Amino acid sequence: MAGLPYIVGNWKMNGTRAMLNEARAIDRAAQRFPKVQVALAPPTTLIHRMREAVELIGVGGQDSHSLENGAYTGDVSAVMLKDAGSDFTIIGHSERREYHAENDAHVKAKAQAALSAGLAVILCVGETEAQRDAGDAEGVVTAQLEGSCPIGDGAPEKLSVAYEPVWAIGTGRVPSVDDVAAMHKAIRAKLISIYGEAGAEVRILYGGSVKAENAAELLAVPDVGGALVGGASLTAESFLAIVGAAASLAD
Ligand code: PEP
Repeated sequence: MAGLPYIVGNWKMNGTRAMLNEARAIDRAAQRFPKVQVALAPPTTLIHRMREAVELIGVGGQDSHSLENGAYTGDVSAVMLKDAGSDFTIIGHSERREYHAENDAHVKAKAQAALSAGLAVILCVGETEAQRDAGDAEGVVTAQLEGSCPIGDGAPEKLSVAYEPVWAIGTGRVPSVDDVAAMHKAIRAKLISIYGEAGAEVRILYGGSVKAENAAELLAVPDVGGALVGGASLTAESFLAIVGAAASLAD
């Protein structure tokens, strides 16, 4: 698998200008961790200001439309995110799939548009608790990849996949390391079947209740190339503890 461990904070619908101080603190500390790639996805309203406030860390969006512009009230396109200073966008987060009825076809179209606009893409997949209990977790996740992985225009080179079990997001519950390892192995096999050998280089992040206390254990799982972090990315202190755990493993 290519690249440095990638630790990405997803601020979701949290943050006004005052929170840029957290981003500045994260950016200042990032120079102590040259073996970790660090990024934040603030709300769209803060992207431009954050881009201007930081030097080392990546800045990206949490979603972007599949079209460049048009009559889509409230939406933002990948071209606009890029123009605002984004390096990447998250696509297909389970909160978008659930609250905005996004299916795999929407997710694929959005991912393709983001790559065409020159953004890297973090594509999210993950099963619900009912799907895991029914023994369908791997089937659900590999079907999501089959339906939503972008083709061409920088794929897979600018693609990362985030495995985020829906039942672990914001709940404090995490899968066992064996379950994470098994799922990342299944995702890797699927990526190779979609992209050929280039699929072996795609970074696969784990997301879902990653915190200082569990980060080292989760990041040490084979084929876990980083973490997508929600709640624990909202303060520099809690986020940097995770970045520090990734740095210790990278040494
Ligand atoms: C997320 O929503 O991407 C996420 C991982 O959230 P949390 O870390 O809060 O579970």
